[in-house]
Amino acid sequence: MKKRSRSRIWLGAALAALMSSFALAPGTAQADSERRCSGGYVAITFDDGPTETTDEYLEALREAGRVRATWFVTGSLAQARPEGTRRIAADGHEIGNHSYTHPDLVRLDAATAFAELRDTSRVVRAQTGRAPKLFRPPFGSTDARTRQDAARLGMTEVIWTADTVDWSGIPAETVVANALTVRAGGIILLHDGLRTTLEAIPKIVEGLAERGLCPGRIVRSATPVEAWPGLTFHARAARW
Ligand SMILES: [Zn+2]
Repeated sequence: MKKRSRSRIWLGAALAALMSSFALAPGTAQADSERRCSGGYVAITFDDGPTETTDEYLEALREAGRVRATWFVTGSLAQARPEGTRRIAADGHEIGNHSYTHPDLVRLDAATAFAELRDTSRVVRAQTGRAPKLFRPPFGSTDARTRQDAARLGMTEVIWTADTVDWSGIPAETVVANALTVRAGGIILLHDGLRTTLEAIPKIVEGLAERGLCPGRIVRSATPVEAWPGLTFHARAARW
């Protein structure tokens, strides 16, 4: 009798310890990520895909710690490489609309400009099951009509706060340095299809981590964010 009650006490204590460890586990993980991301979140974005390099970018992001990014694809490239769009989505990244043929939208007539956005959203939706919620105008060239078109299609316009100029032939370390000028809540502009950018990916993630910054998703911002003097947009980085 005595022995039985002692074992019961032991069992009760073990059970309580087990339950508290279950209860603690998520809290600890959250505290961990809060510590790791104490500097806040920034968004990594890749424009002008999918390309023949997309798979290697995805691999680099997986190896850098399952990093997620936002990919602003053009409708014409997505149409040409549906497997690229699908793989981006399958890895848990966000897909944004970057127009169909990458024109300067503000120079087009209203119907053509709207079709550029509409057709891209259709392609992305057909390929991934989800229409884009984010839109980035080619060259960052936008106006009230462009923003209205995006809003009509349920998208928030996203420019950037850290331009890496990675398309200009600069070395990977300069791409990294340019990316790391980003501040908490900011958005880094990179491009798909570049070997130097591919090489820069792990170093960018590492440099961000050193500052306590974690890659995040893009959400609407109530307050305007300045891309450059004279152009503001309403988006910022947040936790996935
Ligand atoms: Zn572009």
